[in-house]
Amino acid sequence: MGRSYWFECARCGYRAKVSGREDRGRTFFVQTVFCRDCRELYDAVTRLKVADDPVRFGNFAAWRWATPDLRRTFSAPPAFQAVLSRLPQRGVKRFRWLPFKLQCPVSAIHQVRSWNDPDKCPRCSVFLEKSALPYRLWD
Ligand SMILES: [Zn+2]
Ligand SMILES: [Zn+2]
Repeated sequence: MGRSYWFECARCGYRAKVSGREDRGRTFFVQTVFCRDCRELYDAVTRLKVADDPVRFGNFAAWRWATPDLRRTFSAPPAFQAVLSRLPQRGVKRFRWLPFKLQCPVSAIHQVRSWNDPDKCPRCSVFLEKSALPYRLWD
């Protein structure tokens, strides 16, 4: 099960609800990233469990042979919220893990790096304070 925490900046008041590291649930992995362009922290989805089924979206064999255009579409990671609200995949027997590159959820061309607690405020470079209790348990 993954955990999100409040991270808060004592100087500028910036707040973010993120894992603050690499974290994983049953069906996906995240890594907290700092986007230099947005000056925000996000939980980027880095691995997603998908049905290994030729008909469904996310089929790995199909993805491997897809055209470069299609592959680019598939290789864009879904947003954290979108993955959280995914319906449970019932009746699926075989799964694959789809890997994604670290990417800003706003734009693929933004520059991101992984952000691991303790690390600095994306706005003013003071170290962020982590809440003692998780804000949310997910997946
Ligand atoms: Zn700050
Ligand atoms: Zn960004």
